[in-house]
Amino acid sequence: MAGKPKRRSIQREAALSGTGLHTGASTRAVFRPGPTGSGVVFRRIDLDGQPEVPARISEVEALERRTAIGRGPATIHTVEHLLAAVAAHEIDDLQVDLSGPEPPILDGSVGPYFTALAEAGPVEVDGEAVVLTVQAPFTVTDGEASYVVAPSKRFQLTVTIEFPHPLIGRQVGSYDVSPDAFAAELAPARTFGFTSEVDALQAKGLIKGASTASAIVLDERGIVNGGRLRWPDEFVRHKAADIVGDLALTGCRIRAHVVATRPSHSGNVALARALARAAARSGVPAMDIGRIMDVLPHRYPFLLVDRIVEVEGDKRIVGIKNVTINEPFFQGHFPGHPIMPGVMIIEAMAQVGGMLLLAHFEGQNVEDKVVYFMSLDNVKFRRPVLPGDQLRFELEMLAFRGKTCRMKGQAFVDGHLVAEAEMMAAVVDK
Ligand SMILES: [Zn+2]
Repeated sequence: MAGKPKRRSIQREAALSGTGLHTGASTRAVFRPGPTGSGVVFRRIDLDGQPEVPARISEVEALERRTAIGRGPATIHTVEHLLAAVAAHEIDDLQVDLSGPEPPILDGSVGPYFTALAEAGPVEVDGEAVVLTVQAPFTVTDGEASYVVAPSKRFQLTVTIEFPHPLIGRQVGSYDVSPDAFAAELAPARTFGFTSEVDALQAKGLIKGASTASAIVLDERGIVNGGRLRWPDEFVRHKAADIVGDLALTGCRIRAHVVATRPSHSGNVALARALARAAARSGVPAMDIGRIMDVLPHRYPFLLVDRIVEVEGDKRIVGIKNVTINEPFFQGHFPGHPIMPGVMIIEAMAQVGGMLLLAHFEGQNVEDKVVYFMSLDNVKFRRPVLPGDQLRFELEMLAFRGKTCRMKGQAFVDGHLVAEAEMMAAVVDK
């Protein structure tokens, strides 16, 4: 991992106006410097109370032909091109004021947004940027879309698309996602659509603002209205730019090589979720308590994991539990002589193990799954655990078959082994 990069925002405002691709609504988008640590936040200044919608995966509402975030009337459609420009400039903190429900489509590319942000003067600000890295390769599939994520010191994309059209066919491209390379290779590539799909999409209320000025429009033979391509493989370049925009919803800078085949917005967002879970993050714990509560169904007083500090795919995980005198079990175990019950140490170990097991199902909806423990072997308690101790659980996957697995867990306090066990567990649907 390279150094500790500082966060970035912009020095001055920049604005763009135009029509939204799907809603057809006229909207003005204004970029403003964001407070350090705020992330990228949209604000609907046309609505009562000017609701804010953070550009985060948790806010994703719709994925058909676009990425939409927010809820109900505050929904913001088609954020991917704007966010691709933000991510390509490595801008971490930004406020985006919108006067309508959808940033303008402009020429259908990321280019105008990239240029506007360049003119706004990207600048380092206080605070440390959060960088996502991966330690081991993993895969994500979503319908026809599939992705392989491999470790890399840079953000690299290799994208393959296939469309049965004489101008497209199979296109493959590899790109570095640095500000300069993005500007030259991806930003000008425009979105595209087929005349054969217009009726079906309009019947769903989509592409109300589409025109040959805002997209490459293809009929069976070629481009309608005599339009010209910016590159013969402009199509795959645009899909690569879309991935950059969708992965911006992780709220982090990415250092990994993403190999995408037939990407879709739905697949890109599944990939973003998987990256956010599987990746190691600089600047913050691998998983804070909020993320742990997203994955584990346990709640107080039975949630016994405070933090996940290391994740290596589905091979190994390290979690932390700070043991305080306020733990409910110390009231009775034993009055005047508090010792953490051994079974609670094993339960905490099992909860960390459950997160390791669920990591195996990355990209799938783990909210619908629950981990059952089936057996414990070779359980040993080596030392008592007392109030004030910090338990460090290290779990390793020994074997995985179907939906069951065998894990070895060790618990340490100050580097001393306090307990160990082998456990078998299964993932079942709720
Ligand atoms: Zn796009």
